[in-house]
Amino acid sequence: MFRGDAVFEQMGEIPAASVATVAMVFPKDAVEEDIKGSGFVVSRNEDFSMAACSWIHRKWPHTVPEDKILLRAFVGRRKEESIVDLADKAIEETVLSDLNRIMKINQPPEFTTVTRWRNSIPQYTVGHEHRKEAIYSEFKQSYPGIFAGGASFEGVELSECVRQAKSGVTSILNFLKN
Ligand SMILES: Cc1cc2nc3c(=O)[nH]c(=O)nc-3n(C[C@H](O)[C@H](O)[C@H](O)COP(=O)(O)OP(=O)(O)OC[C@H]3O[C@@H](n4cnc5c(N)ncnc54)[C@H](O)[C@@H]3O)c2cc1C
Repeated sequence: MFRGDAVFEQMGEIPAASVATVAMVFPKDAVEEDIKGSGFVVSRNEDFSMAACSWIHRKWPHTVPEDKILLRAFVGRRKEESIVDLADKAIEETVLSDLNRIMKINQPPEFTTVTRWRNSIPQYTVGHEHRKEAIYSEFKQSYPGIFAGGASFEGVELSECVRQAKSGVTSILNFLKN
């Protein structure tokens, strides 16, 4: 429907990073030295490959059997995405090596699931505000009644995407009423 329109070229200019999630299950006694909290993020200046890790068994205990630990690590950042293309085993080893620098895990995971999410995290580079406004304006002018929203525009957090979806619905209803 919109193919070839300039507005979509502008949307294509919003870059997105590729990441992989690494979910690893351990028996509870595998972790000898734990850390407090439910996860952490890693600054890109640090000498770690991992970008973040969540303690899923603490964040959402009902999703994990009581005698297990489920860690979900993230690898890959904008301009440091080559790790996402490594073999599953290599990604797992990198994450375990990083984790063992801050805690002590005495055995390999019982199982690991690596999931790759390519071009999935939009990056708001310099000029984003201007690009975004140009896209909104182009929609208003050329496609009245169609509204843009989602992670590429106002924020990547789920709560922010839901807020944008609700706001989009309100805009559509108002458009239909007038
Ligand atoms: C690995 C990962 C972990 C994350 N973890 C968190 C977290 O812990 N907390 C948090 O708040 N956020 C998290 N996020 C961010 C959040 O999940 C996303 O920003 C959010 O889901 C994006 O919502 P969206 O509706 O913009 O896009 P999407 O959820 O990607 O929805 C877009 C939809 O459009 C469909 N679609 C695409 N192209 C077409 C087409 N041509 N025709 C028809 N349909 C199409 C797609 O199939 C998809 O269903 C995470 C993101 C990733 C990738």
